[in-house]
Amino acid sequence: MTSINSELVIDPKIFRDNISFLKNKLNNSSKFMAVIKSDAYGHHLEHIVKDIEDLSDGFGVVRIDEALKIRELSNKKILLMQGVYSKEDLDISIQNKFDLVVHNLDQFQIIKEGNHYEGLWLKINTGMNRLGFGIDEFLKIYEEYLFDKKFTLMSHLASSNDTSNPSNENQFKIFEDISSRLHNSIERSIANTGCIMNYSNKTFDWARCGIGIYGGYIGNHDLKTAMTLRSPIVNIRNINKGDQVGYDGRAVAKKDMKIASVYLGYADGLPVNVKDGTSVMINNEIASVFGKVSMDLTTIDVSNIAKCSVGDWCEFFSPELPITNIASSNDLISYYLMTSVKSRVKKIYKTLD
Ligand SMILES: *Cc1c(COP(=O)(O)O)cnc(C)c1O
Repeated sequence: MTSINSELVIDPKIFRDNISFLKNKLNNSSKFMAVIKSDAYGHHLEHIVKDIEDLSDGFGVVRIDEALKIRELSNKKILLMQGVYSKEDLDISIQNKFDLVVHNLDQFQIIKEGNHYEGLWLKINTGMNRLGFGIDEFLKIYEEYLFDKKFTLMSHLASSNDTSNPSNENQFKIFEDISSRLHNSIERSIANTGCIMNYSNKTFDWARCGIGIYGGYIGNHDLKTAMTLRSPIVNIRNINKGDQVGYDGRAVAKKDMKIASVYLGYADGLPVNVKDGTSVMINNEIASVFGKVSMDLTTIDVSNIAKCSVGDWCEFFSPELPITNIASSNDLISYYLMTSVKSRVKKIYKTLD
């Protein structure tokens, strides 16, 4: 007996195409760090390391267990983008030659006590107010401990995808002002995907690129969605004008309709509040969500789909149906959708024909 399942199909060729496109935008001397935190934004860490190792100058993650998995596969630079929070993790990092972000005084204390000044990325707060040293605080440690050390000055942009937001210029200005006051063998890194796309002259020494690799960057059609989330239709029924579909009767038929029920729900990672009218794809035609997403099922209006039967795939996003569509039409972000897919969805790593 074979059982049916929803599938998350991940296409390694698309990562490679996306990376080539992104690298072409970098300043000549900028290196490319592939950000693969959180299981490569849900795309399977170990697979992606093997597939993009030759195209990347380094890898960025947050958790030390992920860094250890990468170290088994690659000798390239691995950055712990939140640094370490204990002496034990510092020791593991030194043994495995991890680069470390240092973002506050508590972390700097651990570094100082370990007398470990190799591969440090000093993070300053330029306006996001999440992590990073205050400017004066940073200059103080610099003058006392770092004036003769090599390190990377780092910061993170809050709104790099929105060029109308003046915060970008403010953050660049603070970043460049500070770096002009430091000795000139430091490296610099502020760019994420949005910065590569919108401010490609600010990629400095290291671009730290995540969402662009996976094709989730909004507003660009050259970057393709690398994951396909698809699920089989398990039932099709006709309903009459005035009938309600799904929980709370959210969707009410304005005419006679044909409704397909698909084997995927919020317990698979599709957000419960996905709206009626959200586009999906069945047999290369666009259909739309009709009714509230249930735990194990989603109902789709297939009235206008010429040919559709039980067993056909319904795709929620794919290289042909960008993940940014479902994200923007539901006030979500693609990062969230990518990292929400649950383990009961079968993950398959291959290029679909
Ligand atoms: C996640 C992350 C990135 C990557 O950002 P994208 O928008 O996905 O390109 C870069 N830098 C840091 C510190 C991050 O945490």
